[in-house]
Amino acid sequence: MTIKTRFAPSPTGYLHIGGVRTALYSWAFARHHKGEFLLRIEDTDLERSTAESVNIIMDGMQWVGLDYDNAGDVVYQTRRFERYKQVIARLLEQGHAYYCYCSKEELEAMREQAQREGTATYDRRWRPEPGKTLPEIPAGREPVVRFKTPTEGVTAWHDLVKGEISIPNNTLDDLIIARADGTPTYNFCVVVDDWDMDITHVIRGDDHVNNTPKQINILKAIGAELPQYAHLPMILNEQGRKISKRSGDTVAITEFDQMGILPEALLNYLARLGWAHGDDEFFTMQQFVEWFDLKNVSASASRMDEKKLYWINGEHIKAADNRKLAELVQPRLAVRNVHDTARPPLEDVLALVKDRAQDLNTLADECLYFYRKATPAEADVQKHWDDEAAGRMRRFAERLEALPEWNAESIHALFKPFCDDEGIKMGKLGMPLRLAVCGTAKTPSVDEVLALIGREEVLHRIRSH
Ligand code: GLU
Repeated sequence: MTIKTRFAPSPTGYLHIGGVRTALYSWAFARHHKGEFLLRIEDTDLERSTAESVNIIMDGMQWVGLDYDNAGDVVYQTRRFERYKQVIARLLEQGHAYYCYCSKEELEAMREQAQREGTATYDRRWRPEPGKTLPEIPAGREPVVRFKTPTEGVTAWHDLVKGEISIPNNTLDDLIIARADGTPTYNFCVVVDDWDMDITHVIRGDDHVNNTPKQINILKAIGAELPQYAHLPMILNEQGRKISKRSGDTVAITEFDQMGILPEALLNYLARLGWAHGDDEFFTMQQFVEWFDLKNVSASASRMDEKKLYWINGEHIKAADNRKLAELVQPRLAVRNVHDTARPPLEDVLALVKDRAQDLNTLADECLYFYRKATPAEADVQKHWDDEAAGRMRRFAERLEALPEWNAESIHALFKPFCDDEGIKMGKLGMPLRLAVCGTAKTPSVDEVLALIGREEVLHRIRSH
Protein backbone atom coordinates (compact mmCIF):
# COMPACT_ATOMS: atom_id res chain seq x y z
CA MET A 1 0.00 0.00 0.00
CA THR A 2 1.33 3.45 -0.90
CA ILE A 3 1.08 5.91 1.96
CA LYS A 4 -0.77 9.03 0.85
CA THR A 5 -1.15 12.20 2.86
CA ARG A 6 -2.51 15.58 1.95
CA PHE A 7 -2.39 19.20 2.99
CA ALA A 8 -5.79 20.79 2.57
CA PRO A 9 -5.67 24.51 3.31
CA SER A 10 -8.58 26.88 2.84
CA PRO A 11 -7.40 29.84 0.74
CA THR A 12 -8.73 32.65 2.89
CA GLY A 13 -5.84 35.07 3.21
CA TYR A 14 -2.44 33.87 4.26
CA LEU A 15 -0.49 30.70 4.96
CA HIS A 16 -0.61 30.17 8.71
CA ILE A 17 2.37 28.88 10.65
CA GLY A 18 0.18 26.13 12.18
CA GLY A 19 -0.83 25.10 8.67
CA VAL A 20 2.81 24.91 7.66
CA ARG A 21 3.56 22.63 10.59
CA THR A 22 0.63 20.41 9.59
CA ALA A 23 1.93 20.37 6.03
CA LEU A 24 5.44 19.63 7.28
CA TYR A 25 4.37 16.60 9.30
CA SER A 26 2.17 15.28 6.48
CA TRP A 27 5.01 15.78 4.03
CA ALA A 28 7.62 14.15 6.29
CA PHE A 29 5.34 11.21 7.00
CA ALA A 30 4.80 10.60 3.27
CA ARG A 31 8.47 11.09 2.41
CA HIS A 32 9.58 8.82 5.27
CA HIS A 33 7.38 6.04 3.94
CA LYS A 34 8.25 6.73 0.29
CA GLY A 35 4.63 7.66 -0.24
CA GLU A 36 2.88 10.65 -1.77
CA PHE A 37 2.08 14.06 -0.40
CA LEU A 38 -0.76 15.89 -2.14
CA LEU A 39 -2.11 19.42 -2.10
CA ARG A 40 -5.82 20.13 -2.07
CA ILE A 41 -7.32 23.59 -2.06
CA GLU A 42 -10.49 23.69 0.03
CA ASP A 43 -12.15 26.60 -1.66
CA THR A 44 -15.83 25.73 -1.29
CA ASP A 45 -16.39 28.78 0.89
CA LEU A 46 -16.81 31.04 -2.11
CA GLU A 47 -17.16 34.20 -0.08
CA ARG A 48 -13.86 33.81 1.74
CA SER A 49 -11.73 32.03 -0.88
CA THR A 50 -9.70 34.01 -3.39
CA ALA A 51 -7.34 33.12 -6.23
CA GLU A 52 -4.77 35.43 -4.67
CA SER A 53 -4.84 33.38 -1.47
CA VAL A 54 -4.25 30.23 -3.50
CA ASN A 55 -1.09 31.85 -4.89
CA ILE A 56 -0.03 32.86 -1.40
CA ILE A 57 -0.34 29.23 -0.29
CA MET A 58 1.62 27.93 -3.26
CA ASP A 59 4.32 30.59 -2.93
CA GLY A 60 4.57 29.78 0.76
CA MET A 61 4.92 26.05 0.10
CA GLN A 62 7.62 26.81 -2.43
CA TRP A 63 9.42 29.19 -0.07
CA VAL A 64 9.61 26.63 2.72
CA GLY A 65 10.45 23.91 0.21
CA LEU A 66 7.61 21.48 0.85
CA ASP A 67 7.11 19.83 -2.51
CA TYR A 68 3.84 18.09 -3.30
CA ASP A 69 3.46 15.28 -5.78
CA ASN A 70 0.42 16.61 -7.61
CA ALA A 71 1.95 19.98 -8.54
CA GLY A 72 0.55 19.66 -12.07
CA ASP A 73 -2.80 18.47 -10.83
CA VAL A 74 -3.67 20.21 -7.58
CA VAL A 75 -7.16 19.32 -6.35
CA TYR A 76 -9.59 22.24 -6.12
CA GLN A 77 -12.90 21.49 -4.46
CA THR A 78 -14.74 24.05 -6.57
CA ARG A 79 -13.88 22.01 -9.67
CA ARG A 80 -15.41 18.88 -8.23
CA PHE A 81 -19.03 19.86 -7.67
CA GLU A 82 -20.31 17.41 -10.28
CA ARG A 83 -18.52 14.59 -8.51
CA TYR A 84 -19.97 15.55 -5.12
CA LYS A 85 -23.45 15.69 -6.62
CA GLN A 86 -22.96 12.25 -8.07
CA VAL A 87 -22.06 10.76 -4.68
CA ILE A 88 -24.95 12.56 -2.99
CA ALA A 89 -27.34 11.10 -5.57
CA ARG A 90 -25.96 7.65 -4.85
CA LEU A 91 -26.34 8.05 -1.09
CA LEU A 92 -29.94 9.14 -1.60
CA GLU A 93 -30.57 6.19 -3.85
CA GLN A 94 -29.11 3.74 -1.35
CA GLY A 95 -31.06 5.20 1.56
CA HIS A 96 -28.01 6.59 3.36
CA ALA A 97 -29.29 10.12 2.88
CA TYR A 98 -32.68 11.78 2.67
CA TYR A 99 -34.40 15.06 1.90
CA CYS A 100 -35.34 17.33 4.75
CA TYR A 101 -37.85 20.16 4.29
CA CYS A 102 -37.62 21.83 7.68
CA SER A 103 -37.98 25.58 7.78
CA LYS A 104 -35.57 27.88 9.59
CA GLU A 105 -38.12 28.42 12.35
CA GLU A 106 -38.58 24.71 12.89
CA LEU A 107 -34.82 24.20 13.11
CA GLU A 108 -34.49 27.07 15.55
CA ALA A 109 -37.11 25.53 17.83
CA MET A 110 -35.29 22.19 17.65
CA ARG A 111 -32.01 23.85 18.55
CA GLU A 112 -33.53 25.41 21.65
CA GLN A 113 -35.01 22.13 22.75
CA ALA A 114 -31.77 20.25 22.11
CA GLN A 115 -29.88 22.78 24.17
CA ARG A 116 -32.28 22.22 27.07
CA GLU A 117 -32.06 18.46 26.79
CA GLY A 118 -28.43 18.07 25.74
CA THR A 119 -29.21 15.92 22.73
CA ALA A 120 -28.40 16.07 19.01
CA THR A 121 -29.92 19.18 17.45
CA TYR A 122 -31.99 17.80 14.65
CA ASP A 123 -34.96 15.67 15.74
CA ARG A 124 -34.76 13.52 12.60
CA ARG A 125 -38.24 14.59 11.59
CA TRP A 126 -37.74 13.77 7.90
CA ARG A 127 -35.61 10.69 8.43
CA PRO A 128 -37.36 7.76 6.81
CA GLU A 129 -37.77 4.73 9.09
CA PRO A 130 -39.78 1.54 8.54
CA GLY A 131 -43.38 2.13 9.60
CA LYS A 132 -42.89 5.91 10.04
CA THR A 133 -45.12 8.36 8.22
CA LEU A 134 -43.21 11.42 7.06
CA PRO A 135 -44.72 14.91 7.19
CA GLU A 136 -46.35 16.30 4.09
CA ILE A 137 -43.91 18.04 1.77
CA PRO A 138 -44.43 21.80 2.08
CA ALA A 139 -45.19 23.41 -1.26
CA GLY A 140 -42.44 25.44 -2.87
CA ARG A 141 -39.69 24.63 -0.36
CA GLU A 142 -36.37 23.29 -1.63
CA PRO A 143 -35.06 20.53 0.61
CA VAL A 144 -31.59 20.02 2.00
CA VAL A 145 -30.03 16.55 1.92
CA ARG A 146 -29.17 15.01 5.27
CA PHE A 147 -26.93 12.07 6.01
CA LYS A 148 -28.42 9.21 7.99
CA THR A 149 -26.05 9.02 10.93
CA PRO A 150 -26.24 5.80 12.96
CA THR A 151 -28.24 6.44 16.13
CA GLU A 152 -26.79 3.69 18.24
CA GLY A 153 -23.31 2.68 19.32
CA VAL A 154 -20.23 4.81 19.03
CA THR A 155 -17.93 6.08 16.31
CA ALA A 156 -14.40 5.37 17.45
CA TRP A 157 -10.93 5.57 16.01
CA HIS A 158 -7.41 5.15 17.18
CA ASP A 159 -5.89 8.56 16.67
CA LEU A 160 -2.20 8.28 15.87
CA VAL A 161 -1.45 11.26 18.08
CA LYS A 162 -4.27 11.39 20.63
CA GLY A 163 -4.96 7.70 21.14
CA GLU A 164 -8.45 6.19 21.43
CA ILE A 165 -11.30 8.57 20.68
CA SER A 166 -14.89 7.45 20.89
CA ILE A 167 -18.02 9.52 20.27
CA PRO A 168 -21.54 8.22 21.06
CA ASN A 169 -23.54 8.32 17.84
CA ASN A 170 -26.65 9.67 19.53
CA THR A 171 -24.81 12.96 20.07
CA LEU A 172 -24.23 13.32 16.33
CA ASP A 173 -26.69 15.03 14.06
CA ASP A 174 -27.97 13.83 10.73
CA LEU A 175 -25.74 16.37 9.13
CA ILE A 176 -26.63 18.32 6.03
CA ILE A 177 -24.54 17.18 3.09
CA ALA A 178 -26.20 19.32 0.42
CA ARG A 179 -27.76 22.72 0.94
CA ALA A 180 -31.12 23.72 -0.51
CA ASP A 181 -29.34 25.20 -3.55
CA GLY A 182 -27.71 21.82 -4.17
CA THR A 183 -24.16 22.79 -3.13
CA PRO A 184 -22.34 20.20 -1.03
CA THR A 185 -21.19 21.03 2.48
CA TYR A 186 -17.70 21.09 3.90
CA ASN A 187 -17.48 17.73 5.71
CA PHE A 188 -18.98 15.94 2.78
CA CYS A 189 -16.50 17.37 0.27
CA VAL A 190 -13.59 16.38 2.52
CA VAL A 191 -14.87 12.82 2.66
CA VAL A 192 -15.28 12.44 -1.09
CA ASP A 193 -11.89 14.05 -1.71
CA ASP A 194 -10.03 11.87 0.77
CA TRP A 195 -11.72 8.86 -0.77
CA ASP A 196 -11.02 9.79 -4.40
CA MET A 197 -7.44 10.78 -3.60
CA ASP A 198 -6.84 7.45 -1.81
CA ILE A 199 -5.61 9.24 1.29
CA THR A 200 -4.30 6.70 3.78
CA HIS A 201 -3.39 9.11 6.60
CA VAL A 202 -5.30 12.25 7.44
CA ILE A 203 -2.91 14.46 9.40
CA ARG A 204 -4.51 17.77 10.43
CA GLY A 205 -5.05 20.21 13.26
CA ASP A 206 -7.05 19.04 16.25
CA ASP A 207 -9.67 21.71 15.60
CA HIS A 208 -11.02 19.03 13.24
CA VAL A 209 -11.48 16.28 15.85
CA ASN A 210 -15.22 17.04 15.97
CA ASN A 211 -15.51 16.57 12.23
CA THR A 212 -13.88 13.17 12.22
CA PRO A 213 -16.81 11.03 13.49
CA LYS A 214 -19.08 12.71 10.92
CA GLN A 215 -16.58 11.97 8.18
CA ILE A 216 -16.01 8.39 9.32
CA ASN A 217 -19.74 7.63 9.22
CA ILE A 218 -20.07 8.97 5.70
CA LEU A 219 -16.98 7.06 4.58
CA LYS A 220 -18.49 3.87 5.97
CA ALA A 221 -21.77 4.53 4.16
CA ILE A 222 -20.11 5.04 0.79
CA GLY A 223 -18.10 1.88 1.35
CA ALA A 224 -14.72 3.59 1.45
CA GLU A 225 -11.77 2.25 3.32
CA LEU A 226 -11.12 4.41 6.38
CA PRO A 227 -7.92 6.39 6.48
CA GLN A 228 -5.97 6.63 9.72
CA TYR A 229 -6.23 9.91 11.56
CA ALA A 230 -3.63 11.97 13.36
CA HIS A 231 -4.80 15.20 14.97
CA LEU A 232 -2.06 17.66 15.84
CA PRO A 233 -2.40 19.83 18.93
CA MET A 234 -2.59 23.58 18.56
CA ILE A 235 0.33 25.96 18.66
CA LEU A 236 0.12 28.45 21.54
CA ASN A 237 1.68 31.89 21.65
CA GLU A 238 4.28 32.81 24.27
CA GLN A 239 1.49 33.77 26.66
CA GLY A 240 -0.02 30.29 26.36
CA ARG A 241 -3.07 31.25 24.31
CA LYS A 242 -3.91 29.88 20.89
CA ILE A 243 -1.64 31.64 18.42
CA SER A 244 -3.59 34.05 16.23
CA LYS A 245 -3.24 37.10 14.09
CA ARG A 246 -5.96 38.75 16.11
CA SER A 247 -3.85 38.55 19.27
CA GLY A 248 -1.03 40.23 17.35
CA ASP A 249 1.04 37.06 16.99
CA THR A 250 3.27 36.46 14.01
CA VAL A 251 1.44 33.77 12.08
CA ALA A 252 1.71 34.40 8.34
CA ILE A 253 4.59 32.62 6.70
CA THR A 254 5.60 35.76 4.78
CA GLU A 255 6.19 37.60 8.06
CA PHE A 256 8.90 35.10 8.97
CA ASP A 257 10.58 35.82 5.65
CA GLN A 258 10.47 39.52 6.46
CA MET A 259 11.98 38.80 9.87
CA GLY A 260 14.94 37.25 8.08
CA ILE A 261 14.22 33.67 9.04
CA LEU A 262 15.59 31.06 6.66
CA PRO A 263 12.98 28.60 5.38
CA GLU A 264 15.04 25.62 6.50
CA ALA A 265 15.37 27.14 9.96
CA LEU A 266 11.62 27.72 10.18
CA LEU A 267 10.96 24.10 9.22
CA ASN A 268 13.58 22.87 11.70
CA TYR A 269 11.92 24.97 14.40
CA LEU A 270 8.41 23.80 13.48
CA ALA A 271 9.57 20.20 13.36
CA ARG A 272 10.65 20.49 16.99
CA LEU A 273 7.47 22.32 17.97
CA GLY A 274 5.45 19.28 18.99
CA TRP A 275 7.79 16.47 18.00
CA ALA A 276 11.13 15.28 19.34
CA HIS A 277 13.98 13.01 18.41
CA GLY A 278 15.94 12.72 21.64
CA ASP A 279 17.63 16.03 22.37
CA ASP A 280 18.29 16.93 18.75
CA GLU A 281 17.53 20.60 18.10
CA PHE A 282 19.43 21.43 14.96
CA PHE A 283 18.98 19.15 11.98
CA THR A 284 18.39 19.05 8.26
CA MET A 285 15.13 18.16 6.56
CA GLN A 286 16.77 15.00 5.32
CA GLN A 287 17.40 13.94 8.90
CA PHE A 288 13.89 14.96 9.87
CA VAL A 289 12.37 12.78 7.16
CA GLU A 290 14.54 9.90 8.27
CA TRP A 291 13.55 10.28 11.93
CA PHE A 292 9.93 11.36 11.65
CA ASP A 293 7.36 9.17 13.27
CA LEU A 294 3.85 10.14 14.41
CA LYS A 295 4.51 8.24 17.65
CA ASN A 296 6.85 10.98 18.74
CA VAL A 297 4.38 13.79 18.13
CA SER A 298 3.31 15.31 21.42
CA ALA A 299 -0.36 15.03 22.33
CA SER A 300 -0.32 18.36 24.15
CA ALA A 301 -0.13 21.87 22.71
CA SER A 302 3.25 23.51 22.16
CA ARG A 303 4.26 27.06 22.82
CA MET A 304 6.03 29.41 20.43
CA ASP A 305 9.46 30.48 21.59
CA GLU A 306 10.83 33.27 19.42
CA LYS A 307 14.23 33.23 21.07
CA LYS A 308 14.65 29.59 20.16
CA LEU A 309 13.51 30.26 16.60
CA TYR A 310 16.22 32.92 16.26
CA TRP A 311 18.80 30.62 17.82
CA ILE A 312 18.01 27.83 15.35
CA ASN A 313 18.04 30.41 12.56
CA GLY A 314 21.51 31.55 13.63
CA GLU A 315 22.70 27.96 13.48
CA HIS A 316 21.32 27.57 9.96
CA ILE A 317 22.92 30.83 8.87
CA LYS A 318 26.28 29.55 10.12
CA ALA A 319 25.79 26.25 8.31
CA ALA A 320 24.49 27.78 5.07
CA ASP A 321 26.51 27.80 1.89
CA ASN A 322 27.93 31.31 1.43
CA ARG A 323 26.86 31.60 -2.17
CA LYS A 324 23.29 30.73 -1.28
CA LEU A 325 23.39 33.09 1.67
CA ALA A 326 24.64 35.86 -0.61
CA GLU A 327 21.56 35.43 -2.81
CA LEU A 328 19.35 35.91 0.22
CA VAL A 329 21.26 38.86 1.65
CA GLN A 330 21.63 40.72 -1.65
CA PRO A 331 18.04 41.99 -1.84
CA ARG A 332 18.27 43.03 1.79
CA LEU A 333 21.39 45.05 0.98
CA ALA A 334 19.62 46.60 -2.00
CA VAL A 335 16.91 47.82 0.37
CA ARG A 336 19.76 49.41 2.35
CA ASN A 337 20.98 51.10 -0.81
CA VAL A 338 23.94 48.85 -1.48
CA HIS A 339 23.59 47.59 -5.02
CA ASP A 340 27.09 46.55 -6.01
CA THR A 341 28.34 43.69 -3.89
CA ALA A 342 31.15 42.54 -6.15
CA ARG A 343 33.92 44.35 -4.28
CA PRO A 344 34.53 42.90 -1.81
CA PRO A 345 32.67 39.74 -2.91
CA LEU A 346 29.60 39.35 -0.71
CA GLU A 347 30.35 35.66 -0.24
CA ASP A 348 33.70 36.48 1.37
CA VAL A 349 32.13 39.13 3.57
CA LEU A 350 29.49 36.65 4.71
CA ALA A 351 32.11 34.04 5.54
CA LEU A 352 33.58 36.55 7.93
CA VAL A 353 30.43 37.95 9.56
CA LYS A 354 27.82 35.20 9.40
CA ASP A 355 28.30 33.94 12.93
CA ARG A 356 27.40 37.42 14.21
CA ALA A 357 23.72 37.38 13.23
CA GLN A 358 20.63 35.31 13.99
CA ASP A 359 18.55 36.69 11.14
CA LEU A 360 19.14 37.87 7.59
CA ASN A 361 18.32 41.52 8.30
CA THR A 362 20.93 41.78 11.04
CA LEU A 363 23.26 39.86 8.77
CA ALA A 364 22.74 42.44 6.00
CA ASP A 365 23.47 45.21 8.52
CA GLU A 366 26.70 43.43 9.45
CA CYS A 367 27.77 43.55 5.80
CA LEU A 368 27.08 47.23 5.26
CA TYR A 369 30.39 48.81 6.25
CA PHE A 370 32.22 46.64 3.76
CA TYR A 371 30.51 48.66 1.03
CA ARG A 372 30.21 52.08 2.62
CA LYS A 373 31.48 53.56 5.79
CA ALA A 374 28.98 53.98 8.57
CA THR A 375 28.61 57.12 10.63
CA PRO A 376 30.14 56.27 13.99
CA ALA A 377 27.97 56.37 17.07
CA GLU A 378 28.65 59.33 19.35
CA ALA A 379 29.46 57.03 22.30
CA ASP A 380 32.12 55.21 20.26
CA VAL A 381 33.69 58.48 19.16
CA GLN A 382 33.81 59.68 22.79
CA LYS A 383 35.45 56.47 23.85
CA HIS A 384 37.90 55.76 21.07
CA TRP A 385 38.65 58.95 19.17
CA ASP A 386 40.73 62.04 19.89
CA ASP A 387 43.52 64.06 18.24
CA GLU A 388 46.08 61.56 19.38
CA ALA A 389 44.16 58.72 17.76
CA ALA A 390 43.78 60.77 14.57
CA GLY A 391 47.54 61.32 14.30
CA ARG A 392 48.17 57.69 15.03
CA MET A 393 45.79 56.59 12.30
CA ARG A 394 47.59 58.76 9.76
CA ARG A 395 50.89 57.14 10.75
CA PHE A 396 49.38 53.68 10.55
CA ALA A 397 47.96 54.46 7.10
CA GLU A 398 51.52 55.05 5.87
CA ARG A 399 52.54 51.59 6.95
CA LEU A 400 49.48 50.11 5.27
CA GLU A 401 50.32 51.96 2.11
CA ALA A 402 53.86 50.59 2.14
CA LEU A 403 52.86 46.95 2.58
CA PRO A 404 54.25 44.84 -0.26
CA GLU A 405 51.31 42.45 -0.08
CA TRP A 406 47.72 43.16 0.91
CA ASN A 407 46.26 40.34 2.95
CA ALA A 408 45.14 39.66 6.53
CA GLU A 409 48.48 38.11 7.58
CA SER A 410 50.64 40.95 6.35
CA ILE A 411 48.27 43.52 7.87
CA HIS A 412 48.32 41.58 11.11
CA ALA A 413 52.13 41.55 11.09
CA LEU A 414 52.09 45.38 11.23
CA PHE A 415 50.21 45.59 14.51
CA LYS A 416 52.83 44.63 17.09
CA PRO A 417 55.75 46.69 15.77
CA PHE A 418 53.46 49.69 15.32
CA CYS A 419 52.10 49.43 18.89
CA ASP A 420 55.65 49.03 20.22
CA ASP A 421 56.81 52.10 18.33
CA GLU A 422 53.87 54.13 19.62
CA GLY A 423 54.13 52.69 23.13
CA ILE A 424 50.45 51.63 23.17
CA LYS A 425 48.43 48.48 23.69
CA MET A 426 46.61 46.85 20.76
CA GLY A 427 43.22 48.24 21.84
CA LYS A 428 44.47 51.78 21.22
CA LEU A 429 45.14 50.83 17.63
CA GLY A 430 42.30 48.41 16.92
CA MET A 431 39.35 50.49 18.11
CA PRO A 432 40.20 53.80 16.39
CA LEU A 433 41.17 51.82 13.30
CA ARG A 434 37.73 50.18 13.26
CA LEU A 435 36.05 53.54 13.72
CA ALA A 436 38.09 55.21 11.01
CA VAL A 437 37.61 52.42 8.47
CA CYS A 438 34.25 50.91 9.30
CA GLY A 439 32.51 53.57 11.35
CA THR A 440 31.70 51.04 14.04
CA ALA A 441 33.69 49.50 16.86
CA LYS A 442 31.94 46.16 16.50
CA THR A 443 33.58 44.16 13.74
CA PRO A 444 35.26 40.80 13.44
CA SER A 445 39.04 40.57 13.41
CA VAL A 446 40.16 43.95 12.05
CA ASP A 447 43.00 42.60 9.89
CA GLU A 448 40.56 40.40 7.99
CA VAL A 449 38.06 43.23 7.65
CA LEU A 450 40.71 45.55 6.22
CA ALA A 451 41.98 42.86 3.88
CA LEU A 452 38.50 42.46 2.43
CA ILE A 453 37.68 46.15 2.11
CA GLY A 454 40.84 46.63 0.05
CA ARG A 455 43.84 48.92 0.34
CA GLU A 456 42.67 51.85 -1.71
CA GLU A 457 39.34 52.12 0.06
CA VAL A 458 40.89 51.61 3.51
CA LEU A 459 43.44 54.40 2.94
CA HIS A 460 40.76 56.65 1.53
CA ARG A 461 38.51 56.08 4.53
CA ILE A 462 41.26 56.64 7.10
CA ARG A 463 42.50 59.78 5.41
CA SER A 464 39.10 61.32 4.96
CA HIS A 465 37.95 60.47 8.49
N1 GLU B 1 -9.34 23.07 5.17
C1 GLU B 1 -9.10 22.67 6.52
C2 GLU B 1 -8.33 23.75 7.24
O1 GLU B 1 -7.75 24.61 6.59
C3 GLU B 1 -8.33 21.37 6.63
C4 GLU B 1 -9.23 20.19 6.54
C5 GLU B 1 -8.58 18.84 6.67
O2 GLU B 1 -7.34 18.78 6.74
O3 GLU B 1 -9.30 17.87 6.67
O4 GLU B 1 -8.30 23.76 8.44
